[in-house]
Amino acid sequence: MGGLTAAIALSRHGFDVRVYEQSPDLGAFGAGLAITPNAVKVFGALGLQEKLREASFEPEGLIWRDSRDGTMQNHVTLIDATKRFGAPYFNSYRPDVHSILASAAPNSSIKAGRRCIGVETNNNSAGLSFEDGSSAEADVIIGCDGIRSRVRRVLFGGPDARYSGHMCWRTLVPVDALPAGFHDMNTDNWTGSDGFVLSYYVRQGRFVNVVAVRPQEHWNEESWSVPSSREEMLAGFSRMGDKAQSLLSKAGEVYKWGQFAGAPAAQWTKGRATLLGDAAHAMLATFGQGAASSFEDAYALAEWMAAHRDDYGMALNGYEAARKPRTSRLQELSRTEVRFKRLRTPVQRLRREWTYLTRFGLTTNHMYRWIYGFNPVDNWR
Ligand SMILES: Cc1cc2nc3c(=O)[nH]c(=O)nc-3n(C[C@H](O)[C@H](O)[C@H](O)COP(=O)(O)OP(=O)(O)OC[C@H]3O[C@@H](n4cnc5c(N)ncnc54)[C@H](O)[C@@H]3O)c2cc1C
Repeated sequence: MGGLTAAIALSRHGFDVRVYEQSPDLGAFGAGLAITPNAVKVFGALGLQEKLREASFEPEGLIWRDSRDGTMQNHVTLIDATKRFGAPYFNSYRPDVHSILASAAPNSSIKAGRRCIGVETNNNSAGLSFEDGSSAEADVIIGCDGIRSRVRRVLFGGPDARYSGHMCWRTLVPVDALPAGFHDMNTDNWTGSDGFVLSYYVRQGRFVNVVAVRPQEHWNEESWSVPSSREEMLAGFSRMGDKAQSLLSKAGEVYKWGQFAGAPAAQWTKGRATLLGDAAHAMLATFGQGAASSFEDAYALAEWMAAHRDDYGMALNGYEAARKPRTSRLQELSRTEVRFKRLRTPVQRLRREWTYLTRFGLTTNHMYRWIYGFNPVDNWR
């Protein structure tokens, strides 16, 4: 996500860019992705907002419901997202977003099937080596290789992202498989004693994307994403209310994921290399800000590079200093929210408000304004 966005933003400033991707093809895993207004502003600046709108679904709000009877526990309206936050909110399908970005990236910039294994850098140049024995040199290297970043490990060492104690199942439900009007026009969070089920329309309302999250002490799978089944998912949510259960029972292909997150990387930049997106600041998906913050990073980095063509070291350090406070806070907010997914009583709701107010100086309303209302295009410095 962040790598392709950086390639587009940089090439629009005239930089000659290459994207080295380990997979032999560029297809992306088929799940939903909320593109919140702060991130949509980046698509707007790159001339891609209309393409994103055509491929997506605009929810009317975010609703938290008690899964037992559907009672509303909390609500954030999105009908006026453009007025309140400066851009619309889109629920998208990851492969659609990927293909919008890939087709906007300069032809021939994408080199698939190149798994990076080594990075070298000093104050004047940088180089990469790949598993197939090839290598590449560049003025600047951007490590946007995700949560298990090789670039970060080689440059800075330090611990990998850790399992958070929560796992999830992800699946798409075709709307044809559901009774007419089954799902409302919102992003719904069904909370119950097993965990919570997030559901929203994607692909112009033809599918419902489902993410079913529950606590699990250990993640014993070798990979962080593995094929699962509808039966396994349903067994994990046996205490959920009827509506959430019937949604899960219509699932198509099901995958399960361990949710991993990291502490803020102490340093992103060394010589002529820097980090971007999950490689720098992997976060839990509670506010849907992982990809969003990688889009913000990508735009900011391109602006810093364009403003300091004569001193790339200054550009990379400036980018890191500008982005780190926001991404560290997003990581912390996302970690905090895990505790508050279930808000059945007024006391629980008050406790959540109190925590955000005392720890971050934010009410819920202010927090959404801080996350979604941010304009990465005007505030890249
Ligand atoms: C359940 C779940 C739900 C989520 N929902 C949302 C959401 O609604 N909104 C949101 O904004 N975010 C969401 N996220 C987070 C989001 O998916 C990630 O934060 C985002 O994809 C990070 O973007 P990135 O560019 O940093 O890394 P990625 O998108 O992970 O891209 C990294 C790329 O690097 C490649 N790569 C890795 N290692 C190498 C190597 N050694 N050599 C070459 N290539 C390599 C990978 O193949 C991959 O293509 C969710 C995450 C999860 C798990």
